[in-house]
Amino acid sequence: MSKNITIIGGGPVGCLLSVYLAKRGHTVSIFERRPDMRSNSMSAGRSINLALSDRGLRGLEAAGIVDDILSVAIPMHGRMMHSIDGSEHYQPYGKEGQAINSVSRGGINKALLECADGFSNVNITFNVRCSHVDLETATAHFTHPDGTTSIIESDCIIATDGAYSAVREVMQKTDRFNYQQFYIEHGYKELHIPAGEHGAFTMEKHALHIWPRKQYMMIALPNMDGSFTCTLFFPFEGDPSFASLQSDDEIMSFFTEQFPDALSMMPTLLEDYKKNPVSSLVTVRAFPWAYKDKVLLMGDSAHAIVPFFGQGMNAGFEDCRVFDEMLAAHSSDDWTSLFHAYELARKPNGDAIAELALNNFIEMRDLVADPEFLRRKKAERMLSDMFPDAFHTAYSMVTFNHMPYSEALRRGKLNESIIDSMLEIPGILESDPESHKTALETLIREYGERIKLA
Ligand SMILES: Cc1cc2nc3c(=O)[nH]c(=O)nc-3n(C[C@H](O)[C@H](O)[C@H](O)COP(=O)(O)OP(=O)(O)OC[C@H]3O[C@@H](n4cnc5c(N)ncnc54)[C@H](O)[C@@H]3O)c2cc1C
Repeated sequence: MSKNITIIGGGPVGCLLSVYLAKRGHTVSIFERRPDMRSNSMSAGRSINLALSDRGLRGLEAAGIVDDILSVAIPMHGRMMHSIDGSEHYQPYGKEGQAINSVSRGGINKALLECADGFSNVNITFNVRCSHVDLETATAHFTHPDGTTSIIESDCIIATDGAYSAVREVMQKTDRFNYQQFYIEHGYKELHIPAGEHGAFTMEKHALHIWPRKQYMMIALPNMDGSFTCTLFFPFEGDPSFASLQSDDEIMSFFTEQFPDALSMMPTLLEDYKKNPVSSLVTVRAFPWAYKDKVLLMGDSAHAIVPFFGQGMNAGFEDCRVFDEMLAAHSSDDWTSLFHAYELARKPNGDAIAELALNNFIEMRDLVADPEFLRRKKAERMLSDMFPDAFHTAYSMVTFNHMPYSEALRRGKLNESIIDSMLEIPGILESDPESHKTALETLIREYGERIKLA
C-alpha cells in the first residue's frame, strides 16, 4: 500500500531516497531547512567538490541522472603526491579505465532536487527547519523563517538531515539508544588554485592531488572550469596548527616552507585563508536507526564519517539503493520489520566505512610517502595484476566494488597478512614476478580459503 512519507533534509541522500520511494508509488514530502539552491546562488555547504565513485553511481542509476552527472565530472585515475622539494609521484587508484569522479556538491544536489521535483508524488518545502519529532506518531514539528511553526503528520519519517540530525537527537533520548560522536583533532579549510590562461589546468587534471606532511596534509580536486579546490586538513591546536598560524607572515612562511609548488599557483592564498572558515570532522555512531515503523535514520544522520575515503555520500546513496531492494522484497505492509531488517543489514557497513575512513587519513597524510608503505603497495599491485579475479586491493574493494563495506574491511585485513607473507620471499619485488609464480599461487590459494571462512 502506498504510504505518506516525510523526509527531513533535502540533501543528496534525502533527494535520492525520495526518487526511489516515488517510483514505488509512495507520496513523499521533503522538508529542507535551506532555501532552494536551484534559484539561489548559495553554496551547498562544506566541500565545494567531492569524489563520486562506483557505489554512488549505482545508487544514482534509479534517478536516471548518471550520464548528466558524469558529463560534468572529472575522472581522477590516481593520486598525485607532491613532496616538499616539488617532485611529484603518481599512484593509479585501480586498473586501467578505473577512476573516481570529481563532481560539484551543489551540482549533484541541484540535479537530484530537479529529478525529485519532476515526480508528481514528491513535494518539496524549503526554508523549514525540523525542530522536533514525535516518534510514536511520526509527527514532525517545523519552524519557519518568520518564527511561526507547523506540524506535519505522516505514516513515517525518514531522517536524512545530516551529521547533526535533529531527528536523531530526539531518538537519543529513548531507552537503550547508543550514541557516540568523535571529533578528530584536525579541522579543514578550503583554499583555491585558479585556472591558468584560457581555463587551462595548472596541474594534472585527472588526479587527486595530495601534499602529505605526516601530521597534516592538503589535497586538491579539479573543477570543470580549470580550477582546483584545495582542502587543508590541519590540527586545531599545537604547532603548526590553525591556532598557531595567525599573521600574514606566519601563513605565508608556512606555505612557502611546506607547500612551495602549490603556493606558486595560489595567488589569493592569504585572502582565502583568512576568509574561509575552519570546520570540524566528526564520526557519528548510533543505534538503533529505526523507531518501530515510524522513524528511520539514513545517510549521515545514521553514520557520519570523516571524508578520507571519499565515501560519505557514496555510502548514503548505497543506503537508498539497499533500502529500495529490501522494500521491493518486503511482502507485508508493516514496516517495523522492514526498518529493523534494514538497520541490521546496514549498520555493520556504516561501522566498517567509518573505520576505513579514519584509517585512510593516516595512509594519506603519513604513509603515502613512506618507503615501506610504497613497498607494500607495490606488492599489493603485483598480486592484483597477477590474480585479477582472486585478489583485489583494499582501495578497489571500497571504491570500485559493491561488496559490503564490512567485507571490504575484513578482506583488507587479510590482504595485509598475505602481503606480509609475500614480502618474506627474498627479492620478490626486485625480480620478475613470473619467476615466483608457484609460491604466489600457493599464497593466493590459502588467501582464497581464508576469505571463504567468513
Ligand atoms: C570536507 C568534506 C569532504 C567530503 N568529501 C566527500 C567525498 O569526496 N565523497 C563522498 O562520497 N562524500 C564526501 N563527504 C561526505 C558527504 O558530504 C556526506 O556524506 C553527504 O553530504 C551526506 O549526505 P546527506 O544527505 O546524508 O546529508 P547532508 O549532505 O548533510 O544533507 C542534509 C540536509 O538536511 C538539511 N537539514 C539539516 N537539518 C535539518 C533540519 N533540522 N530540518 C530540515 N532540514 C535539515 C540540510 O540543510 C541538508 O540539506 C565529504 C564531507 C566533508 C565534510
